[in-house]
Amino acid sequence: MSAKILIVEDEAAIRELIVYNLQQAGYESICAEDAEKAMAIIHDALPDLILLDWLLPNMTGIDFARVLRRNERTRLIPIIMLTARTQEADKVAGLEIGADDYVTKPFSPRELIARINAVLRRLIPEASAQVVEIHGLRLDPVNHRVTDGNREIALGPTEYRLLHFMMSHTERVYSRSQLLDRVWGDHVFVEERTVDVHIRRLRKALQWTGKDSWIQTVRGAGYRFSAVAVVPANGSNKEI
Ligand code: CA
Repeated sequence: MSAKILIVEDEAAIRELIVYNLQQAGYESICAEDAEKAMAIIHDALPDLILLDWLLPNMTGIDFARVLRRNERTRLIPIIMLTARTQEADKVAGLEIGADDYVTKPFSPRELIARINAVLRRLIPEASAQVVEIHGLRLDPVNHRVTDGNREIALGPTEYRLLHFMMSHTERVYSRSQLLDRVWGDHVFVEERTVDVHIRRLRKALQWTGKDSWIQTVRGAGYRFSAVAVVPANGSNKEI
């Protein structure tokens, strides 16, 4: 449930170093030694972020990044380029094709993790390993726990992902199909009413905290997570 990071790097020692440090930071990783293998992995399931080495055998990292950016399905995956090059012109080229950040080798694992955290926080906050806390409701992606005060809230995996997404995007209304895309992920074909089932379970799990009302049904539009109470105009608060 933690963010899955695809490492595309041909040097085994660097891959191992990154895998180890990602694991320590609470991220899952998957490795490819070249662009072709990376493509096969992406075909099966989209990663949350790609660490992409600039110099790879066959297709270079920069060409691979271009391919990813041109493809509708992959164009929004955050990319951090890894490179031994330090020239400013290369950095500009990397950012121009749409890399979201740039780390120069040799890098300290700590710096790399800080950059990954920053990019995820900015682009897909629900995939970052950062703790989210809203008025005492606390979700910790590293140990996978949701607590209210000092009591733990038991959640199923889908409810956990749904809550993580909603707590990371408060005040905005998401339609059922948007929630399916963002929480269930791509390559998933499920009915929209599945969302309602999991929303119901999530509310039930939160009931004893009194915070179940933070998951608001917005009639005809979808759902919103908000700690700001809604006072219904006509006294009813029925589900749509
Ligand atoms: Ca390389």
